[in-house]
Amino acid sequence: MFEQAEQLLQSYFGYSSFRKGQEEAIRSVLAERDTVCVMPTGGGKSICYQIPALVLPGTTIVISPLISLMKDQVDTLLQVGVPATYINSSISVQEANERMNEAREGKYKLIYIAPERLESYDFIERLEGLEIPLVAVDEAHCISQWGHDFRPSYLHIQKLIDRLPHKPIVMALTATATPQVRADICKTLQIAEQNTIITGFARENLSFQVIKGQDRYAFLRNYVKKNEQEGGIIYAATRKVVDQLYEKLQKEGIAVGRYHAGMNDSDRHHEQEKFLQDETTVMVATSAFGMGIDKSNIRYCLHYQMPKNMESYYQEAGRAGRDGLDSECILLYSSQDVQVQRFLIDQSADERRIAGELEKLQSMVDYCHTESCLQSSILEYFGDSAGEDCGRCGNCTDSRSTVDVTREAQMVLSCIIRMGQRFGKTAVAQVLTGSKNKKIIELRFDKLPTYGILKEMSTKDASEFIEFLISQDLIGVEQGAYPTIFVTPAGKNVLLGKQLVHRKEIIEVVQISTKDPLFELLREVRKTIADQEKVPPFVIFSDAAIKDMCVKLPLSPDEFLQVNGVGEMKLKKYGDAFIQAILEFCEANPERKSEAPIMNAATKKKKPEKNSHLETYELFKEGLSVSEIAKKREMVTSTIENHIMQCMDQGMDIDWTDIIPSEYVPLLEQAVEAVGREKLKPIKEQLPKEVSYLMIKVFLNK
Ligand code: ADP
Repeated sequence: MFEQAEQLLQSYFGYSSFRKGQEEAIRSVLAERDTVCVMPTGGGKSICYQIPALVLPGTTIVISPLISLMKDQVDTLLQVGVPATYINSSISVQEANERMNEAREGKYKLIYIAPERLESYDFIERLEGLEIPLVAVDEAHCISQWGHDFRPSYLHIQKLIDRLPHKPIVMALTATATPQVRADICKTLQIAEQNTIITGFARENLSFQVIKGQDRYAFLRNYVKKNEQEGGIIYAATRKVVDQLYEKLQKEGIAVGRYHAGMNDSDRHHEQEKFLQDETTVMVATSAFGMGIDKSNIRYCLHYQMPKNMESYYQEAGRAGRDGLDSECILLYSSQDVQVQRFLIDQSADERRIAGELEKLQSMVDYCHTESCLQSSILEYFGDSAGEDCGRCGNCTDSRSTVDVTREAQMVLSCIIRMGQRFGKTAVAQVLTGSKNKKIIELRFDKLPTYGILKEMSTKDASEFIEFLISQDLIGVEQGAYPTIFVTPAGKNVLLGKQLVHRKEIIEVVQISTKDPLFELLREVRKTIADQEKVPPFVIFSDAAIKDMCVKLPLSPDEFLQVNGVGEMKLKKYGDAFIQAILEFCEANPERKSEAPIMNAATKKKKPEKNSHLETYELFKEGLSVSEIAKKREMVTSTIENHIMQCMDQGMDIDWTDIIPSEYVPLLEQAVEAVGREKLKPIKEQLPKEVSYLMIKVFLNK
């Protein structure tokens, strides 16, 4: 049975092997054991129930709490050719009934269901009429009152299971690992605790970094600009900051969206859609954004302010890199953030929880100051034995040289003391840089010996330097309506010359990945197809699959099938469009060579469908137009055009008048005259968009 599972993984999903944990989980389910599967976000939980659903007879029920996710997941399955549907409050009663009727006829391998449905007696009764081999409970932590997202309707799941005439296998999946939550899941769903499969929580493709004592807006702007092509999320702590950043980035010409609870539903929905569709590349948001976001091609997650605890941080940052490609999680820390979060915690009415929340906040602050491996710190916090340092994070890779800034530090510290340790960062910076500010003069600070002692610095730089000294714990911050700064015991040691201060160079923004024009080109092909099919681009192909195309440069259906993430259905639907784009690119860039050996026919697992173009040819001969054939065959038009070109290459008879509208003929003649007939691309560039490659090729052959 497991061999069959491996085969299905290749033929439907286009992956050559299961990941760690997936194999174990699938073996367990196929051995008819109820199973709990704990894997981090992006670990590949969906496959763990989707493959068994394909192996087992009947219809698998998936309970999933997030309506917005259900559609994406079903679309993803339909894309690879797995019949699936969903039933939730976004569809009409009629539609729901229809889908249930179809389900009874055995039309679906998987049905996604919102847990609220299980509260209806009628609905459960209708489910009893189906053959259900497996019930998969996604986001299973929702069953636990200890979890952060308890949903009472999850408690009805066990009722459903008990009512079914044949007891199904039960599988619970979650990314939340605390022992208490796990125990709750096992107890409620009556799963033996030893049937729990847990993989480590480390996300191998994420690199974490904390940046402090630096101008954070400057960093953010440079970062976003330098990585303009890449999708990213910027989290801020308050709506106000979200709006400010949004406006600033928009002025910079960035394709940016925003999301927070102060916006109305339809605006939020609109912004979210644009982001999912890759129309905006950056989303600035509060923590309200992200639940129910499955977008896999998010390359970075930047926290403009420190979040309230490690739980939120790891969850939010973890939205980067679900496709497994290298991604960055950067936290821009400033000591003011502590105050903002304290304020927000104080505002949350529940007094009993304040102490606990403050403790969690402290762990978050500690994370921002640690010098050890950041990933290990995170894992340790969550009770996962960390093991080795990651070697990727900001601390593991820090090789900046340091400068001795003891003298400047002493100047600052002495200024703070002379000002009576009663003022904030800005006032101190103003005095140090010799500001003529009215208040400073009124307070006679211009008479202090430290007035203007750092006048070669801007006030902003001085302020940043103070921020750096705060991060080194040489200056403390007295929180309050107007936070004031004071010299800590360690700071006193510096003043007494007992301790030196070293500062590292500022961290420069780097580009996440080198730009590859082919990658950009294939992204465009994907976007065009996604718009035609009305699904988000990542549902067509993940960035990982597109990267793999750039490495393997597949030029035939056989080769295309070897791309990670290409199964038979996707080969059939999109193979030609991508192959054509790659072919043209390689023609124009002959120096570009495939970096990966393509397996030879003998080692391949599956034979692709070879004669798809002949099917197109038959329809073409019957007199159907390209777009009619595309519609009939459920393929994109560029695929059909490719088929016809393939037929031409094989010497089949194509009447050019069937392809080229007569008004284009003079244009084509002119274009060929201008740039010659060697290459298609320069000719195409001479012509209006409507003139396809197919038309050009047919013209050249006529
Ligand atoms: P989770 O639900 O655990 O967050 P997903 O099921 O969304 O994770 O999977 C994350 C990504 O990993 C998806 O893009 C998926 O296609 C990919 N993936 C899953 N299993 C494999 C595998 N065996 N090989 C390669 N990619 C995989």
